[in-house]
Amino acid sequence: MQGPLIDSLTRQGITRRTFLKYCATLASMMALPPTAGRAMAEAMAAAKRPSVIWLPFQECTGCTESITRSHSPTIEGMIFDMISLDYQETLMAAAGFQAEEARHNAMKENAGKYLLIVDGSIPLAIDGAYSCIGGRSNVDILKEAAAGCAAIVAMGSCASYGGIPKANPNPTGAVSVADVIKDKPIVNIPGCPPIPVVMTGVLAHYLTFGALPELDDKGRPKAFFGDTIHDRCYRRPFYDQGKFAKTFDDEGARNGWCLFELGCKGPVTHNACATVKWNGGTSWPVESGHGCLGCSEPDFWDAGGFYKALSTPADPLRFAAAAAVVGAGAGVAVSFANRAKKDAAKTAHETTTLADLEK
Ligand code: SF4
Ligand code: SF4
Repeated sequence: MQGPLIDSLTRQGITRRTFLKYCATLASMMALPPTAGRAMAEAMAAAKRPSVIWLPFQECTGCTESITRSHSPTIEGMIFDMISLDYQETLMAAAGFQAEEARHNAMKENAGKYLLIVDGSIPLAIDGAYSCIGGRSNVDILKEAAAGCAAIVAMGSCASYGGIPKANPNPTGAVSVADVIKDKPIVNIPGCPPIPVVMTGVLAHYLTFGALPELDDKGRPKAFFGDTIHDRCYRRPFYDQGKFAKTFDDEGARNGWCLFELGCKGPVTHNACATVKWNGGTSWPVESGHGCLGCSEPDFWDAGGFYKALSTPADPLRFAAAAAVVGAGAGVAVSFANRAKKDAAKTAHETTTLADLEK
């Protein structure tokens, strides 16, 4: 395996073996066959660095911080050696006219081939005047840059769904990338902020296969957003046993019980936090004692209710009691009850969304 990435990794003290292992893990996280890890490593090592233009619009820079300020050096960071990041106003040395010239040159030289990353929402009110760069509105720049790109990555909840800038009363008329651009492939990587390894996975897939990964009905990569937080949460056995913390410092909280009744939105939130975790796999919000806020769902923020339990009945014991009345023997009753409560919870969760909180 040869190439600029391997050279760069070697300089950072990361071995070929570690990189192969990383690619195998990435492939397995993306539900690709076992051979895909090696293919991914070979492709990434040999890939010509595609031009990437990254446009930060109406945002807080949290997405850029998330990707670039994880622990250092990271293999995620090294993946960025695989691309030619030709414009990113927060990270680039150039500024002003020089920066705009770099963007125009990259768009011209790589017409039809460059990858466009957008973070932040796009304000449409008063002709887009709420957010301008070099005297031009975000919406103008987005349309211009999207016209010549091969595909778009909408990074973070703002670019994916409008996010916090779109929250009621949405004074700037903020919308998502997909609300503006209708004729390009778009992958949404929501999260406030998004998980760095998800971004890496999408880039690795694009570099390896020349295409975006399979998406769900909200434009998210299925490999990372196919399950809910609740599906993979390590506190799930407590949910199934009906053991819920009632306050953040009660006995249940100290014993690591489920945070559903403290407002956890894990049952209706699709993201990979429970498996990938944060800060290099150190921990994630639920492991740190706080319920999921639902930051990767379209209704994030306006749905609110961060400390209010979902309307979904989280009452497994109710099903246990019903089964005990009907049951033919304690063992069967418990087994039936467990099954019933899981089915009921699953059915209820499948039909409950963050929007239900607004009702
Ligand atoms: S409700 Fe939240 S804390 Fe409880 S099991 Fe589900 S995701 Fe985990
Ligand atoms: S646990 Fe929930 S709110 Fe927290 S980062 Fe993950 S998806 Fe977002």
